Amino acid sequence: MSATLVAHRKIKSICMIVFLVECHPSQRSRLPPFSLKDDIEVTIPPVQQQSNGTDCGVFAIAFPTALCYQLNPASLKLNRRVIRAHLWDSIQNGYLGMFPFKEASSKEIDRSFTIQVYCDCCFPYNPNKDRMAECSERKRWFHKKCQHIPDKVFKFERFKWQCKDCKNV
Ligand SMILES: [Zn+2]
Ligand SMILES: [Zn+2]
Repeated sequence: MSATLVAHRKIKSICMIVFLVECHPSQRSRLPPFSLKDDIEVTIPPVQQQSNGTDCGVFAIAFPTALCYQLNPASLKLNRRVIRAHLWDSIQNGYLGMFPFKEASSKEIDRSFTIQVYCDCCFPYNPNKDRMAECSERKRWFHKKCQHIPDKVFKFERFKWQCKDCKNV
């Protein structure tokens, strides 16, 4: 699998967890306290928000563009009336200049939280997508899909399952 694809899948998975934690706090209890393998610190800077249901893509391009121009996205007030036209011009000209903006000072501070990741793939646990089981040998948690864990492991609580690495020793 290419590094880009891995990064893309990882970002997608993180977005899903951010969505669960941030937008549906009631879902937080669905993220159980599995033994920790590693964690990722996620920081959300207080950037300008879109005011309609369609500009998310333009903002998602404008903020990393600001980083490329060594500007702090949290200190920008983008001119919403012209950012779409700017993007369209940039695509046509094959050159992406900084989006029109004014300096802005936000009184809000960064929000941050930690996401736990598991398994050899170092992805979070997504209860909507996959189950996880603990290796009885190493006491580490693995995704069902990554290790092709058989259903009986989840059916019978006393079933001792070993991950591929431990099995092959
Ligand atoms: Zn995995
Ligand atoms: Zn193991």
